[in-house]
Amino acid sequence: MSDATANRVGTPARAADSADSADFAGLAARAARLDAEDGLGKLRERFALPEDLVYLDGNSLGALPAAVPGAVDDVIRRQWGELLIRSWDESGWWTAPERIGDLLAPLVGAAAGQVTVGDSTSVNLFKALVGAARLAAPGRTRMLVDAATFPTDGYIAASAARMTGLEVVPVEPGEVLGALGDDTAVVLLNHVDYRSGRLHDLPALTAAVHAAGALVVWDLCHSAGALPVGLDAHGVDLAVGCTYKYLNGGPGAPAYLYVAARHQDAFDSPLPGWNSHAEPFAMTPEYVPARGAARARVGTPDILSMLALEAALGVWEGVRIEEVRAKSLALTDFFLECVAAYVPAGKVEAVTPREHGERGSQVSLRCANAREVMAELIARGVVGDFRAPDVLRFGFTPLYVGFADAERAARTLGHIFG
Ligand SMILES: *Cc1c(COP(=O)(O)O)cnc(C)c1O
Repeated sequence: MSDATANRVGTPARAADSADSADFAGLAARAARLDAEDGLGKLRERFALPEDLVYLDGNSLGALPAAVPGAVDDVIRRQWGELLIRSWDESGWWTAPERIGDLLAPLVGAAAGQVTVGDSTSVNLFKALVGAARLAAPGRTRMLVDAATFPTDGYIAASAARMTGLEVVPVEPGEVLGALGDDTAVVLLNHVDYRSGRLHDLPALTAAVHAAGALVVWDLCHSAGALPVGLDAHGVDLAVGCTYKYLNGGPGAPAYLYVAARHQDAFDSPLPGWNSHAEPFAMTPEYVPARGAARARVGTPDILSMLALEAALGVWEGVRIEEVRAKSLALTDFFLECVAAYVPAGKVEAVTPREHGERGSQVSLRCANAREVMAELIARGVVGDFRAPDVLRFGFTPLYVGFADAERAARTLGHIFG
């Protein structure tokens, strides 16, 4: 294969329909065997998913964990309806941001006391970037920002930079090494690119940023819950992420902010609300920041969605993220293989890297009329999503997606092009 065609997938010289019977028998049998051997397969029972749906959009909105409706019902009827204001203490509402942060922390490789849940990813990015700029060594003037980033990160970075007197420099993650210098204050990177599904090398990039004397902020929206992150192990400074994608917290579920323990005492939040005060109920006019993770809080936590998230995190009990990663790679490999078998040559092109070390937990395929193709897939019971201008995204969430789902999704795509 030449470089130009290396990412082409598809069956040469055969229409998908005629290719179907032989390929179908072999791939469907393989899928059944892989599902039977899958140690995580039974975790699908922890989710309430429509029976006949292939759901490959958990990288946008995770599925509903079966325990959530009952937990939310209790929060609303008993904790709120009966206990009322007593629930701030008796139901643990007040301490929920740090408690749920600690529940989530192992999934991103953080020891307890460094992750705070609350607010949106956008708001946490603002806290992280301004906080990082205020922690940076004086005299440094530049904020390097992932040029391919999800738009909100770029918008927020521009404002944070303006507020802190830094200049934003857009940089492709592959070119960060060359762009670092003794004028670099802060670097904002995405662990996995939301459009292409490319995984960036967090350990190496973090080390390089530190070698240049700067701080790094990682956005984990598309990696947390899908692969090992290792925030503590790799010495990350600050990180943010959402909880409604691979963490299944539900629509608009609160995001989180990680501030490494070594930075907490100097972390100067740009949103020092009363919840981050050392003594919130002293109601003093002077602001005295809380120590530890609580300093990342702002105002009253969004209890209903936060406690839905707490119940949702129960699906991770007994699950090792390394196992999730292994299954994710096997699923995406198998999906690519099925696409190659079922989709006529030249119709789609994989945007997501083949190399495991550079692949997140999604497969992005570029094709003509991608918007219409995705609408047709959804009409046939295979839910992925479309990103402008020409990308089909398929998210593989190993807790509830199996190999038969991957096979059916690729076969359905083949039929659409057949
Ligand atoms: C999903 C996502 C967001 C979402 O931001 P919100 O403030 O939660 O809407 C931000 N950044 C990235 C990289 C994302 O993938």
